[in-house]
Amino acid sequence: MDGFVRVPISEQEPKVRATNFEEVCLGYTEEEAVKEAGRCLNCKNPKCVGGCPVSINIPAFIHEVSERNFEKAYQIISESSALPAVCGRVCPQETQCEGQCIRGIKGEAVAIGKLERFVADWARENGVKPTPAEKKNGHKVAVIGSGPSGLTCAGDLAKLGYDVTIFEALQKAGGVLVYGIPEFRLPKDKVVAAEVENVKSLGVTFETNVIVGKSITIDELMEEEGFEAVFIGSGAGLPRFMGIPGEQANGVFSANEFLTRSNLMKAYEDSDTPISRGKKVVVVGGGNVAMDAARTALRLGAEVHVVYRRSEAELPARAEEVHHAKEEGIQFDLLQNPVEILTDDNGWVTGVRVIKMELGEPDESGRRRPVEVEGSEYNIDCDTVIMSLGTSPNPLISATTKGLEVNRRGCIVAEETDGKTSKASVYAGGDAVTGAATVILAMGAGKAAAKGIDAYFQNNK
Ligand SMILES: Cc1cc2nc3c(=O)[nH]c(=O)nc-3n(C[C@H](O)[C@H](O)[C@H](O)COP(=O)(O)OP(=O)(O)OC[C@H]3O[C@@H](n4cnc5c(N)ncnc54)[C@H](O)[C@@H]3O)c2cc1C
Repeated sequence: MDGFVRVPISEQEPKVRATNFEEVCLGYTEEEAVKEAGRCLNCKNPKCVGGCPVSINIPAFIHEVSERNFEKAYQIISESSALPAVCGRVCPQETQCEGQCIRGIKGEAVAIGKLERFVADWARENGVKPTPAEKKNGHKVAVIGSGPSGLTCAGDLAKLGYDVTIFEALQKAGGVLVYGIPEFRLPKDKVVAAEVENVKSLGVTFETNVIVGKSITIDELMEEEGFEAVFIGSGAGLPRFMGIPGEQANGVFSANEFLTRSNLMKAYEDSDTPISRGKKVVVVGGGNVAMDAARTALRLGAEVHVVYRRSEAELPARAEEVHHAKEEGIQFDLLQNPVEILTDDNGWVTGVRVIKMELGEPDESGRRRPVEVEGSEYNIDCDTVIMSLGTSPNPLISATTKGLEVNRRGCIVAEETDGKTSKASVYAGGDAVTGAATVILAMGAGKAAAKGIDAYFQNNK
């Protein structure tokens, strides 16, 4: 069955990695990458490219890997993606490029994500950078937010010669890549900072610690600072809660706060940043964020239970993350939903009261609707609860920008094709428009907006 099975990838042993914050996946060696690249059938009509929201020429870069032309492979990827080392690690390839791979019909899809990661890591280790524009075109564009959408939009515009400045509220650039996704999945200094540096090397200026809407408004950037167009890529950082009794108790956190403390302020490294080191932690939710919060709490020494109201088949997290979480010893309490957070007399969490659920008819999302089983409530003892129920955009930007339309979920209304908003020469994309989604969709939106902004200047010359 030669070629039907992918070349296996090395990972840290589950027992070892459950006690450290080092990267779980160790990546392919050169020999392994070349062998895996040899499995690509180089299809005439490559469906994998259609499955990639930034349309990387996948067969072409994989062919170069199989020929050991790693630098050429990197140049091909970087024509379409500013963040290949990030995407190679965190993209849901199984439902995108790899989900379309012909090899996947009778065997395992080519490990496109792992090959992308290999190429990007090889380029970084060998000092290969993307190619900057030869000359500037004299137009100034502001980008709000340095997450994947902002970095992509800024990088693409810089390559076209625009003079781009990214305004970022936090002290470090990268958005969720630095403050959300944990070190053990996405190393910050080695990978994220290096790809941010690549965007800088294209000529993009970064202004950190600038909260647009407080430090300066979009209208001021355009009317007083000479920016002719703006891209808003400010993400969806506002956590949701359930609204159940006890949610204000000491020991209840949003996953965002918990992960930000751990990642950005390095609380896991015994720094001065306070972080909850619970003995028994309940994480509520079943997405990637819930898996990250659970696996972080585990590494900080807790017994961790993930409470999710549907069954395993509906878990929205990537299959690989669920698999890793289980291997590390996280327990999944499925088809259960919290109804109350229990506290002691001093207001500290002592447990969660949950009710069992069963699956009914499909809802508007197409997933079967969870229905409460009457009289099935019981208590789970714990000292910490982490709520991971999704996020929505912060209203600061929309509230301080004249004429910017938002929908009833607080998301900025923008065209999917070019990111155009209701306000002239203002574009938007990523989680700020779609609500919490994925890195690659945010990058796709940044790319589309860069094209839209360029078309705007071409048409208004
Ligand atoms: C814990 C976690 C794990 C995830 N795991 C995955 C995964 O495995 N795979 C995947 O594909 N996706 C994952 N996601 C989702 C993915 O990270 C997001 O969809 C993506 O980062 C969205 O990109 P963005 O550019 O729209 O926004 P963000 O990454 O949120 O970046 C927005 C940036 O804008 C800045 N900003 C906000 N307001 C202002 C303002 N007023 N002024 C200036 N700057 C501002 C923010 O500080 C931030 O840096 C995860 C998300 C989280 C939270």
